[in-house]
Formats: sequence, C-alpha cells, structure tokens
Amino acid sequence: MALAPKQQRKKFGLGELLIEPTPEPISNISGCLDTLKRAWKKKGSLAGLWNDWNRLAGEKLASNCRPLSLRRGVLIIGASHPQWRQALIYSRPQLLAALKAAGHDIKDLKIQQYHPSANPDQEDEKSIWARHPSRIDVHGITNCQSCGCPAPTGEMALWGRCSFCRRKQLY
Ligand SMILES: [Zn+2]
Repeated sequence: MALAPKQQRKKFGLGELLIEPTPEPISNISGCLDTLKRAWKKKGSLAGLWNDWNRLAGEKLASNCRPLSLRRGVLIIGASHPQWRQALIYSRPQLLAALKAAGHDIKDLKIQQYHPSANPDQEDEKSIWARHPSRIDVHGITNCQSCGCPAPTGEMALWGRCSFCRRKQLY
C-alpha cells in the first residue's frame, strides 16, 4: 500500500488519520496561465508563431500549411498537398520576410510534405472545433426545419435538422 505524503497523515492514537491534501494556492494557477501567455507571446517560439500564423501566412496558406517545428531559427513548414507545397516554395521569400518583420527570429524556412489526414486520431481539438457544425460564429444561424428553433446552419447543412432533433431521431 502506498503511503500518503507526510502532510496528509496525522497521528491518531496508535495509528494515523488520513487528512485531505491542502489545495494548491490559486495563485499557482494564474501564475501558470501567465507563464503560458508569456510563452505564446514570446517571439521565436513555435507557440508564438502559431499565434501569428494565420495573419502572416494568409488564410488560404495558413489552412493548408502549418508550422511544424522551429529549431535554431529554422522553421519547418508542412504543406498538406503538393500544390500547396509548391505555393509555399513560391511565396517563401515573402513569408520569411513577413515572419522576420513580425519579430520572429527565423533565419530560414524549410518546406516539407505533411499529411494531417494520415492519422485523424491525432487531429487537435482546435481544428475539430474550428469546423464543428455547431459553431454559429463560423457557419451562421438559421431555423431548424424540424422543430423551428434557431439552430446553427452547420448542423442544418450536415443533418437537415438541429442537433437536438437529430438526437431525438437517433435514439
Ligand atoms: Zn430541431
């Protein structure tokens, strides 16, 4: 049996009482967030680059090419399709200049083929949510053809009804 840490044990008679762990002070959490925010803002980090990526690469390029790694000033960009790889190679000088102008410490760009669909399980939550049918801010809002309630257009396009009606239909 594993022993609880010392601060969670209390002598009680001949044995010990298990007491609840002291909760981590709340400042630790906000401190953590600050660290995260700083990391995001920090130029030269991949996280900071991700933050600027859509704006710097442009919407079309950004949705088909993504920064994969940044090491010693060499940024590796993955392209989803050979055509996008070509487009990226073509606009490489401009992109490099834009990245530098935005304050990112990048000396060189390398472009490689990237297969985001090769392992759909690894798709990050952010991109799933970005095209999620329930996103009103992305797809707009309409009325459900089945119940008449306001519902995301994305759900209507996908299922012909709102997610509530769909659930009713499924179960
Ligand atoms: Zn409905």
